[in-house]
Amino acid sequence: MIMKVHMAHPFDHARSSVKKWGGLEKDYLKIHEWFDETKAWIGHSKHRLFRHHSEGIFECENVFGKSFINSDNRKVYVRYVGERHVKEDCNGYIPTAKEWIDGLKEPKEWMIKTIKIED
Ligand SMILES: [Zn+2]
Repeated sequence: MIMKVHMAHPFDHARSSVKKWGGLEKDYLKIHEWFDETKAWIGHSKHRLFRHHSEGIFECENVFGKSFINSDNRKVYVRYVGERHVKEDCNGYIPTAKEWIDGLKEPKEWMIKTIKIED
C-alpha cells in the first residue's frame, strides 16, 4: 500500500482510477470532485466527514448511477470508484458516518438539544 501524507486532489484520485479500470481521467473526475467538493465548506481535512464513508458511497451511486462505460468501453461500477476514493483518503479504511461523528470532540448543546418553538 502507498502511504500518503498530503491531501489528495480529485485529479490524483482520477489518475488512480485509470490505473485500476482503464479509460481516461475525465471518465472519473466528476465522481472524485463530488466526494471532495465539501472541502470548500470547511477548508480542512475534516470535510471528509460529509461524504467519505459507506453511506456517502451509496449517496454517490444515487447521484451518478450504479455503473458507467469508460473511454476503454469498459463497464465500471460507481461504488468501487467511491470505495477506492474513500480508502485512499482514509488510510485504507471505509468508515461509517457514525464513526466519523463519534470521532469528533464533545458535542455543543445545539447539536443534541431539540426545542419546540411555540410562536
Ligand atoms: Zn477525498
